[in-house]
Amino acid sequence: MDRALDTLIVGGGPAGLTAALVLGRCLRTVLLCDTGKQRNRAAHAIHAMPGQEGRAPSAFLADVRQELCRYPTIRLLETEVERVASNGGDFEFRCADGTTGSAAIVLFATGLVDTLPSIRGIEKFYGGSVHHCVYCDGAEYEGQPLVACGDGDKGAALALMLSHWSAHVVACCEETAPSADLEKRLADRRIPVITSRVRELVGKSPILEAVIFENGMRYSCSALFFSTGCTQGSKLVSQLGCLRDERGTIRTDPLTEETTVRGVYVAGDASRDVLLVAVAVGEGAKAGVAINRALLKADGLL
Ligand SMILES: Cc1cc2nc3c(=O)[nH]c(=O)nc-3n(C[C@H](O)[C@H](O)[C@H](O)COP(=O)(O)OP(=O)(O)OC[C@H]3O[C@@H](n4cnc5c(N)ncnc54)[C@H](O)[C@@H]3O)c2cc1C
Repeated sequence: MDRALDTLIVGGGPAGLTAALVLGRCLRTVLLCDTGKQRNRAAHAIHAMPGQEGRAPSAFLADVRQELCRYPTIRLLETEVERVASNGGDFEFRCADGTTGSAAIVLFATGLVDTLPSIRGIEKFYGGSVHHCVYCDGAEYEGQPLVACGDGDKGAALALMLSHWSAHVVACCEETAPSADLEKRLADRRIPVITSRVRELVGKSPILEAVIFENGMRYSCSALFFSTGCTQGSKLVSQLGCLRDERGTIRTDPLTEETTVRGVYVAGDASRDVLLVAVAVGEGAKAGVAINRALLKADGLL
């Protein structure tokens, strides 16, 4: 087993990499393990992230990984962390490639996994003209014909929101009619409601030209937005006894990103604040500073 690290970072998306950058500058020994499944890896471009407009997510991440090379105490490994357990003092961990060790602090920056609607061939358009986030991709479709997809009220609410960006929106509520309230609000804005699933996406990947519904109807459109939810990228943190809030999300201190278990931190999408790269970077930075402060305190330097 290796000597105890200052910090194990699980996840190498924007949150984990930013925390590593801050901790590298604090001369902390860090192992960052990553399985390379960053949430936006299917996207063609990043939006709403200052200084990165239109860049491929992979190029942004590669730049940050390169910047980390300046810090000799930071080690990056492409492997899955399979187990983390407290031994009463440190946290012992084991990785899929056989790496084992212990760390004083663990940061989970393990992200979320999106549930894609079950539409044949959706992967070919996902991230190009099929999206889930209006803040990430809405502005690119101003005034263009759009489909909002989600079961019942989810599709209806998304259609209402999208109508801020374009007046040409169709609400695809799958097989569940929306509630009376949402139905009225959609009618007030003349947004058509379709209670039939999308069967097929038509176009030359990644550019969508139309969708065909299971009832046979075809609707020409530039993009499909969906609202189907997402799940945690890793179950590891929930095995450490951290308390959750009423929505089931691990509770974190908004100033430090520390959970209710001392020495365990959660940052980025996994903490379920606003789900944007800029916020993940911010939470990673906050966690990095808080972790260094906790280590300074332990050494009697703060
Ligand atoms: C299609 C799409 C497009 C998007 N576009 C934008 C956009 O334009 N602008 C924007 O601001 N946001 C966008 N987002 C949101 C953005 O992707 C997230 O906010 C951001 O990636 C969160 O960063 P993170 O570091 O928290 O998690 P992630 O980037 O998801 O990284 C988590 C990492 O942890 C790894 N991991 C998980 N478990 C383990 C384990 N046990 N061991 C090792 N590694 C593990 C994963 O493989 C992954 O690499 C988009 C999201 C999607 C789905």
